[in-house]
Amino acid sequence: MSPENCVAISVEPRPVESLVASAEALCESLNERFTPLRRQVFRTIAESSGPISAYRILDRLLDSGLGSGPPTVYRVLEFLQRLNLIHRVESLNAFVACMSPERHHTCQFLICTSCGTTAEMEAESLLASMSGIASGIGFSVNTAVLELKGVCRGCRDVSGALSLASA
Ligand SMILES: [Zn+2]
Ligand SMILES: [Zn+2]
Repeated sequence: MSPENCVAISVEPRPVESLVASAEALCESLNERFTPLRRQVFRTIAESSGPISAYRILDRLLDSGLGSGPPTVYRVLEFLQRLNLIHRVESLNAFVACMSPERHHTCQFLICTSCGTTAEMEAESLLASMSGIASGIGFSVNTAVLELKGVCRGCRDVSGALSLASA
């Protein structure tokens, strides 16, 4: 695909139950066990309104009686990342549930600095063209992190309404 027809698709949020069900199905299809701890960590991330840090995940697990030491939880986070069930938002050092774990994809984020909402976006051809530029100067890309910060539609609508009200 050429950069001219580069498309950005915003991935719509999905209900928690649907995410947990597809996570379980994906684990089964890969012969991986969706243990109670893996399920609870995944659910905690899926239920969070925005990206959630490992420390907050640990806190939630303690609250739910599934207390585990940090090393165990880090292993679970690695597992979930390996299966593409969750993504790490590098700039926030926090995790979000993937909205389409059924298929492999690269993932970029739109992070609202006003409400903290983080949306997934796919821009495969943009990444391909960046990798192309890098390989042109002899650099081979392993991972690419693309996180765009700004204001989401919801927050823009609210601030628009407020400025109209005060006009
Ligand atoms: Zn994803
Ligand atoms: Zn927002």
